Amino acid sequence: METIKVKIGRTIIGGGQPVAVQSMLDCSTMDTAACVEQIGRLREAGCRIVRLAVQGVREAENLANIRAAAWDAGYGDVALVADVHFAPKAALAAAEHADKVRINPGNFGGAGADFMELIEKCRQHGVALRIGVNHGSLSPHVVERWGDTPRGMVESAMEYLRVCRKQGFDQVVVSMKSSNVRVMVHAYRLLAATMRVEWMRYPLHLGVTEAGDGVEGRVRSAVGIGTLLGEGLGDTIRVSLTEPPENEIAPALALVAYFKMRRGRSKPCGIYEYRRRETTPVGNIGGGRTPLLYSELDSEARSGIRKGRIAMLSPDEFNKADPPVRPVVLYKKYVRTSPEMLPIKAAADFGAAFVDGLADGIRIEKRDTPQSELDAIALMILQAARARMSHTEYIACPGCGRTRYDLQGALAEVRRRTSHLGGGLRIAVMGCIVNGPGEMADADYGYVGEGAGRVTIYRGREVVLRGVPQSEAADVLLEVIEADARVQNGVTPTVANDAQ
Ligand code: SF4
Repeated sequence: METIKVKIGRTIIGGGQPVAVQSMLDCSTMDTAACVEQIGRLREAGCRIVRLAVQGVREAENLANIRAAAWDAGYGDVALVADVHFAPKAALAAAEHADKVRINPGNFGGAGADFMELIEKCRQHGVALRIGVNHGSLSPHVVERWGDTPRGMVESAMEYLRVCRKQGFDQVVVSMKSSNVRVMVHAYRLLAATMRVEWMRYPLHLGVTEAGDGVEGRVRSAVGIGTLLGEGLGDTIRVSLTEPPENEIAPALALVAYFKMRRGRSKPCGIYEYRRRETTPVGNIGGGRTPLLYSELDSEARSGIRKGRIAMLSPDEFNKADPPVRPVVLYKKYVRTSPEMLPIKAAADFGAAFVDGLADGIRIEKRDTPQSELDAIALMILQAARARMSHTEYIACPGCGRTRYDLQGALAEVRRRTSHLGGGLRIAVMGCIVNGPGEMADADYGYVGEGAGRVTIYRGREVVLRGVPQSEAADVLLEVIEADARVQNGVTPTVANDAQ
C-alpha cells in the first residue's frame, strides 16, 4: 500500500522507506538511568524507535531528562515515543518532549477539543501521532454500534483520522492491534481498504498484542505481521514479547528481511472476516473440518493425494492462485534456515491461508530436524491462526513502565502450573491493572498484576479474587480453573465459595 512519509525523530517511516522495527521499554519512565540503559541495549540490537509508558504529566516531563541523557550517551538517533492512555493532559505535555505520541482512541475521551489541541501541539513541535487502536479497549460508543469487531476497530481510528485530515495534519501513523491474530489481520486489511476509499495514505504500524514469549510468541507475531507484510501492508512493526525488550528486535528484523525478498508475492487480500472454505472431504481431511498435520491423514486421504483428489501446494503456489475446490495440504521444505528462523519463516509462509480458513492441512519439512519438532511448529501456527486449538494458549503482555511486578517470572510460573490443562484454554498474564483487564481480550482466565506483590484473578472479564499474594497466585488460578472444570463436569465445587 502506498503511504506518505512520517518523520519520527531521525527515522522516516512510510513512503517506500524500509519497514522500521520498534520496541517498548519495560522500566519506569521515572527511572532515567534504567531507561537510557535499555535504550542503549535496544539500539545495539538495531532498534531506532522506542516507546515509553507515560501515565501522567510527571512521566511526560521526565522524557526531557531521558532525551538529554540518551543524547549524552550517544543514542541521539533513537526516537522516543510517548505511550499515553486515559490522560489527554499527559499527551499534551509529552508532545513537548517526544518524537511521537501514541494515543488510544478507546480511552482518549473522544476526537473533540482535547484531540484538536494535541494535533496543534504536535504540529508546533514537529511531533508525529499514532492512533493506536486496541481490540480489547474500544470505547463504549464504538462497541455499541459496531461491536468489538474489526469494523469497530477501524471506525474507532477513522473518527480520529478524519479530524487529522480536516485539521491538515498528516504526520499520523495508525495501528489495529489485537491478541487475536485473525481479528488483527482482518482489521488492518479493512483499515487499508477504508483509507483507500477516503483517499488517506497514513502509514501502518503492525503488531500482535499480548503475543507471549518463546517460540510461541514469535510464531504468533509472525503469523499476523507476516500475513500483512506479504500483502504489501505495513511500514513499521513491533514483535511484542514477554521478554527483555531487546529480544524483540532480532525476530522483527528477520521478518523485515524475509519480506524484503517476498514483498508483494501474495495477492492483496479482500477477506475481512473468517469463513472456513468448503471442500469435498477426502478421508479425514477437507469438508470444512479442523486442519490436520500431514502425519494425521488417514489412508484414504493419503491415497487421495496420490490420485490428485487433494492438492499439495506450497504456500507461494497457493497464495498466487485461486484456491482449488479440492482440499489443500500446504507443504514447504526448508533447507538452509537456522533453527531460530525456522518458526518465524514458517509462520510467515503458512499463516495467511489458515487465518482465512482456506487450507486443510500442513506439512513442514526440514531434513536435519525431527518431524515431531516440525509438527510442533505447525500446531503453533494453526493455533496462532485460531484454526486449531491444540494446547493451552498464553496471552501475555510484554510489560512496560506500568508493570510493578516480575511479569516474566509470573508467566513462567503460570505456564508451569497450567500447561498440562490441554487445548482450547486461553490464559492471560498481564502486567498492570489499568490496561491489563481490557487488553486480555477473549482470555478464559486472567492473572493481572495489581502491584505491591498482589494479583487479581479473572474468569473471563469477571473478577474472581483480588489481592492474591503473587507467591500463591498461580496455585489459586489453577484451583479456580479446576473448580470450574468440576462444575462443568457436574461435581460439587470446592473453591467456588472462596471465589465469590
Ligand atoms: S497491560 Fe502490560 S503492556 Fe499494557 S499497559 Fe499494562 S503493563 Fe503495559
